[in-house]
Amino acid sequence: MTERYDAIVVGAGHNGLVCAALLAKGGKKVLVLEARDEVGGAAVTRSFADGFSVSAGAHLLHQLQPKVMKAIGVHIPLTNERMPTVALSGSGEHLFIDEHTVAGASDQDAEAFTEFMGWSDTFARFLNRQLMKPPPRLGSGQRSDTLKLARLGLDLRMLGRADMRDFLQLIGQNIYDELDARFDTDLLKGAIALDAVTGTHTGPRSPGSLVTWLYRLCTGGHVSQPVGGLGAVSKALADRAEALGVTIRTGVPVDNIVVDNGRVVGVDTAAGRFSSWKVISNADPKTTVFGLVGARHFESTFVRRVHHLRSKGNVAKLHLALDALPDVSGLRYEDFSSRFLLAPSADAVERAFNPAKYGRCSSRPVFELSFPSVSDDSCAPSGKHVMSALVQFAPYDLEGGWTDVARADFHDGALAALDEVMPGLRDLVLHSELLTPVDLEAEFGMSGGHWHHGELGLDQFMFVRPVAGAAQYRMPLDGLYLCGAGTHPGGGVTGAPGYNAAQVILERERSR
Ligand SMILES: Cc1cc2nc3c(=O)[nH]c(=O)nc-3n(C[C@H](O)[C@H](O)[C@H](O)COP(=O)(O)OP(=O)(O)OC[C@H]3O[C@@H](n4cnc5c(N)ncnc54)[C@H](O)[C@@H]3O)c2cc1C
Repeated sequence: MTERYDAIVVGAGHNGLVCAALLAKGGKKVLVLEARDEVGGAAVTRSFADGFSVSAGAHLLHQLQPKVMKAIGVHIPLTNERMPTVALSGSGEHLFIDEHTVAGASDQDAEAFTEFMGWSDTFARFLNRQLMKPPPRLGSGQRSDTLKLARLGLDLRMLGRADMRDFLQLIGQNIYDELDARFDTDLLKGAIALDAVTGTHTGPRSPGSLVTWLYRLCTGGHVSQPVGGLGAVSKALADRAEALGVTIRTGVPVDNIVVDNGRVVGVDTAAGRFSSWKVISNADPKTTVFGLVGARHFESTFVRRVHHLRSKGNVAKLHLALDALPDVSGLRYEDFSSRFLLAPSADAVERAFNPAKYGRCSSRPVFELSFPSVSDDSCAPSGKHVMSALVQFAPYDLEGGWTDVARADFHDGALAALDEVMPGLRDLVLHSELLTPVDLEAEFGMSGGHWHHGELGLDQFMFVRPVAGAAQYRMPLDGLYLCGAGTHPGGGVTGAPGYNAAQVILERERSR
């Protein structure tokens, strides 16, 4: 006798939890099965050295959708609601960026920055309206899709003639040219360029990097740090899902999604079979198709599309347990609660990206980092500190593989680059942990260790995300859905894919 549910969600990443909570709120009996021993996927907090803990994957919130949190009824306590950003300079002449203002740049660039952020904000808000709903199917002939397309066109038209033209033009543009046309200060251009390409396999000169910049700003561009790290976000979502009636079982990997007579009927695990006519996968598209269902259950064209999905990660995570904060010229103690960017110029970001195209690591990596322990004393023993850093570019398919030597080289290169702007940092390190994309794949089960479960490129965006034939969360197999970062609108701790997937599933139920 197997247990039967209205829906089974495979994976308790934050999107799986959002989807499950909303389905339960819609009256469904929902089971979530998570392979790891804890919920959260890449949004977790864990110990990495005795007494030191860190957000092991995602480390800062910048895109969490308020609409999602409101729909589920979750409030996330933050240590710092709006973290300022410091663009680090080796000379101590840092830039201090506070959303729409910058201090430390020339007056002309400071003014241009405010103007640029306002301009970006207009398009980011337009984009955000498209992210919080499933994209229409192109050419389906269905009235609902035609209506959705018409609404999209109308929304675009509402931007006004000049902004509409700008938007259509900027879609394929790169961030590098835009920054070059607007600013002189290299450090400012480096900071924006890095934010535009973080988590993707692109450099600032790559087409589409202006759209990924806007994607990042979708919820207003505020950066924040939750109390207790990103794991606290996932825990709050799981608690709320359970309160809504969801059953969550951790440490239960799904071995395969069971298909019978061309439709999904449940999942198999070491703990037995669980039955449902609906299985929603929070795993990435490749894992779902090839690892959980099996290519034989899909049409060959679809299989080929999924096979060719670009999903090789480039971000490594570096965690340092520190004996004390470094003494950095130009920074006061309170500045250490900021987010830091280390990217001397847009060219430096592009040069850091170049080797990744050929499967090699950046010799001069670029960083986004923070010291979470400055505003959250649960991360480290009193007087000690933690640094959490994203280090780019570290290609998943490194030439020669991520051998011990390759890891040590990358780790030492990263520390040397940090030590140049934070002299003496290396001597403060009590313990360090480097997670390459290969480690991220192994730890979090994300193919290629990719931030977005699949590149956020124009060919894998909106109407064709993850691939044509599955861009509305429904897979071309009866009863199978996706709800993770690989779907529209993409990755980041947003909750948007989980929210949209739940809307699609509930809507289908209502229309039956
Ligand atoms: C190094 C790194 C740093 C990042 N930093 C940030 C950041 O600072 N801010 C930000 O907003 N975003 C960041 N991101 C992106 C963000 O972490 C992801 O986009 C987001 O976590 C995706 O959430 P998800 O729920 O879709 O999937 P995931 O978090 O990947 O969760 C999927 C879940 O499915 C489970 N699963 C997979 N297969 C099975 C199976 N067979 N059976 C059962 N369970 C299964 C996995 O164990 C996992 O728990 C970062 C990503 C990386 C890799």
